[in-house]
Amino acid sequence: MLRTVSQRLTLWYSLLFAALSLGAFLLVYVQLAAGLDRQTDERLQAKAREFARTYRTRGVKGLRLEFATEANGAGKRRVFFRLLGPDGTRQAASDACAWKGLAASPIQHPACGGRIQTLHLPGRRFAVRMLCSRLDDGSLLQIAASIKENEMLLEAYRETFSTVFFILLSCGGLGAYFISRRAMAGVRQVTAAAASIAAGHLDQPLPPGKRGAEIENLTAAFNTMQRRITALIAELTTVIDNVAHDLRMPITRIRGMAETTLSGENNLAAFRDMAVAVIEESDRLVAMVNTILELAQIDAGTLPLPDEAVDLAQVVREAAELFLPAGEDRGIDLRWQVPTEPLFIRGDVRGMQRVVANLLDNAVKYTPAGGRVDLQVSASAEEVTLMVSDSGVGIDEDAMRHVFDRFYRGDASRSTPGSGLGLSLAHAIVTAHHGRITVTSQPNMGSRFLVALPRITPPAG
Ligand code: ADP
Repeated sequence: MLRTVSQRLTLWYSLLFAALSLGAFLLVYVQLAAGLDRQTDERLQAKAREFARTYRTRGVKGLRLEFATEANGAGKRRVFFRLLGPDGTRQAASDACAWKGLAASPIQHPACGGRIQTLHLPGRRFAVRMLCSRLDDGSLLQIAASIKENEMLLEAYRETFSTVFFILLSCGGLGAYFISRRAMAGVRQVTAAAASIAAGHLDQPLPPGKRGAEIENLTAAFNTMQRRITALIAELTTVIDNVAHDLRMPITRIRGMAETTLSGENNLAAFRDMAVAVIEESDRLVAMVNTILELAQIDAGTLPLPDEAVDLAQVVREAAELFLPAGEDRGIDLRWQVPTEPLFIRGDVRGMQRVVANLLDNAVKYTPAGGRVDLQVSASAEEVTLMVSDSGVGIDEDAMRHVFDRFYRGDASRSTPGSGLGLSLAHAIVTAHHGRITVTSQPNMGSRFLVALPRITPPAG
């Protein structure tokens, strides 16, 4: 029934409003009733003191006279006075016609000295208030007064409240409904925009407005999400384009090799050469596909990375030794400065090997013969830092913004083998290890890659 937030807000608001109004009404009602009773009681007590004085000075006779005068003055239906002797016999009383209930059974309440009660007497629509007071000689003085005016006032108050309550409740409920609908207008707009995006219109951001901070924050978050989705879709399209392109090239090469071999001399050596080349190209393809998959899994957080203590100093040392022959072949002076003590980080040793190997491979690849590649590992209390610097071709400012992007390859690297995935994989692995990877470089002045990873204390044993 109450499907929308507006309806629920209206119900809650109305319930709250009703509870508060009823509470306020009850408070005022009780106060008013008590105030009116107090006023009546003060009058009754004053009258009782007056009668007690008369009884003392002028006796029963005087009191009887005063009863009659007072009853005539105030109205016989409105007041009733009676004096009962200590034995309960009636000594004096005003006209009792309208006070049958009282007159028929004279109240001799033993504890009624000074007490004032509200009584509902037969034949009377409105209640009466009665005071019983013991006089010095044990006689009982009874004074009863109609509280018709008080009752009528309270009744009028009750009636007015019920009418006003229902009018206010209806207006309040309607008002609450319209206000909550207005408040939800922004949410409806965001919903409509989300539906429009779901229908494929990704280029319609929500316009900012003055709909309240919550809605504006929602709008801003929504627009950010929309921009992110648009960027992701664009990235995905580029990645698919690049993957298609990068797969087509080696496949075309493989096909070309096969075709050339088939149409050439049919000797075994040619077939062997072709088979070797096909295996090499296929291995490269498989490696590329594996890297793409790995990147996708790291991005999605679905690649379970081992959580072990890794001695980064050792990883770097081993990688440097592995690359030494390749460096020498290319006439590059490869040096490393790695502390002998182990420097631990937490994570995946294979992942770290790939990061170091990719950086080293690039440094060697993009440094001409006669150049230098330096590896340096250092540590602070919190971090272990790896620096890979070379004296190679360097990277220009524009390219530096993209080196960590998928499939990005600098112009100068077109002639060198590669897929443009090495640095993005390194970046993804380092980020998954809660580390940072940065680059500083200038064209023809070499490049410097820095990897910083959180250090952990060496495992016991
Ligand atoms: P690949 O080396 O396969 O092209 P990477 O992702 O490893 O792909 O690197 C991306 C690009 O960054 C390279 O194409 C190259 O232009 C540039 N780059 C990376 N490392 C270096 C380096 N040490 N010196 C100069 N340019 C580099």
